[in-house]
Amino acid sequence: MPVTQTSVLQSVPKGLFVGGSWRDSSDGATLPVEDPATGRTLTDVADATVADGRAALDAAAAAQSSWAATPPRDRSEILRTAYESVTAHTEEFALLMTLEMGKPLAESRGEVAYGAEFFRWFAEEAVRIHGRYAVAPNGATRLLTMRQPVGPTLMITPWNFPLAMGTRKIGPAVAAGCTMVVKPASQTPLTMLLLAELLTDAGVPAGVLNVVTTTRTQEVIEPLIRDSRLRKLTFTGSTAVGRMLVEQSAEQLLRVSMELGGNAPFLVLEDADVDRAVEGAMLAKMRNVGEACTAANRFYVHEAVAEEFSGRFAERMAALTLGKGTKKGVSVGPLIDAKARDKVSELLVDAVAKGAKVLTGGEPHKGPGYFFAPTVLTDVPMSARMQKEEIFGPVAPITTFRTDAEAIRMANDTEYGLVAYLFTESLNRAITTSEALEYGMVGVNQGMISNPAAPFGGVKHSGFGREGGFEGIDEYLETKYVGIAP
Ligand code: NAP
Repeated sequence: MPVTQTSVLQSVPKGLFVGGSWRDSSDGATLPVEDPATGRTLTDVADATVADGRAALDAAAAAQSSWAATPPRDRSEILRTAYESVTAHTEEFALLMTLEMGKPLAESRGEVAYGAEFFRWFAEEAVRIHGRYAVAPNGATRLLTMRQPVGPTLMITPWNFPLAMGTRKIGPAVAAGCTMVVKPASQTPLTMLLLAELLTDAGVPAGVLNVVTTTRTQEVIEPLIRDSRLRKLTFTGSTAVGRMLVEQSAEQLLRVSMELGGNAPFLVLEDADVDRAVEGAMLAKMRNVGEACTAANRFYVHEAVAEEFSGRFAERMAALTLGKGTKKGVSVGPLIDAKARDKVSELLVDAVAKGAKVLTGGEPHKGPGYFFAPTVLTDVPMSARMQKEEIFGPVAPITTFRTDAEAIRMANDTEYGLVAYLFTESLNRAITTSEALEYGMVGVNQGMISNPAAPFGGVKHSGFGREGGFEGIDEYLETKYVGIAP
């Protein structure tokens, strides 16, 4: 049977998932899910109350000890089955994401492959959680270290990658033996609800995974963070909200992971291969319509290659087709909402007022939907707001530089530190510049570096903690030391 908008919207669960069953909100409230390409409501899902949030944590706390005692191989097999199941449902997930978030279907399919891979990767990690045994240096005692699950975890995810931002957290938590309450973004809850159903079918026991969708976000979430049964908070979203949640988490001294905002610089050095740089720029800027924490926010290009790079980049940007993500041939979807579109416009107007020139684009579309034309700006001064603030849209500001040292200084001149991109043909420059960049990740000669096998994460105001790689599971494990006197 072909997957259609009607079939996928009918079949996706609409309730709260608590203790292994679906239920309505305790006051019967629902929240509308909107299609950003049309501004129309797609469907409604349950809008959780404070009591529903507490019930979800009750279920997670009750399931923790038996879940922690489940053999690692069983947890691994559940994740492997989930990987296969998500992959088998690629079309359903892709269509749901395109409908609720806007990105074109091809990109949504890419996110399904990327998101599912976290389950396969952590299926392999679940059976490799090792401790240590050592003889103390004085020979008197034996030092045993063991790794144990942190415990019930609250996971808060953003709307821009509705699947992958969840699987990056759920995968390692399942592998480590933690139970969880997941709160997806209220603008894109459908993907997570479908995922909960598939994970249950894959064998995740009742109470281990609970999903709460709500618009009463602060009201529902803050009591959970302040509840002594919660042991960990993992958040992906804006720096402003992350900072507030870190403050709340101080009360219970929670283990905390924060994947926050970015302001990625994209450096094209004098010796760069311009073809590769343009290819990389398209990916780093236009993946997810620029609505990615990893999106290139500022382009610093050596003056010797600036004209060639800017011209070719603008040509490629101008050739993109805007439209509803479900339509064939569309390469750029809408932004998530009117506020996001207006913020992009505001930053653009500010840059132009300060001297930037528009090479291509430069306009929001009238709508319906929240579209913005792919835009390339040159001569963007360092005083423009977009040098400091996340654009989160399809606008690429280009500024030139003369020396590598100047480029590094400009790149590091931000409170953020998630990812930087660097294009050079010199291995020596690649290494020394990567070392000098104050970022958690550096992409060399490539515009996309997210990989489930690599530790994703930032420094400075982009947060702390790593998702993926060998490090990913550490976030969900405590180390216990047992000293044994023989
Ligand atoms: P956001 O406004 O911070 O929202 C993220 C999540 O936090 C949503 O689920 C939201 O719920 C929830 N939230 C908002 N206020 C809250 C509160 N007072 N208490 C508890 N939870 C609260 O961010 P966004 O606009 O969705 O996402 C974009 C941001 O995420 C960008 O800054 C981007 O760079 C960042 N991001 C970072 C990474 C990374 O890995 N570093 C990855 C993706 C995105 P509601 O939907 O109900 O408001």
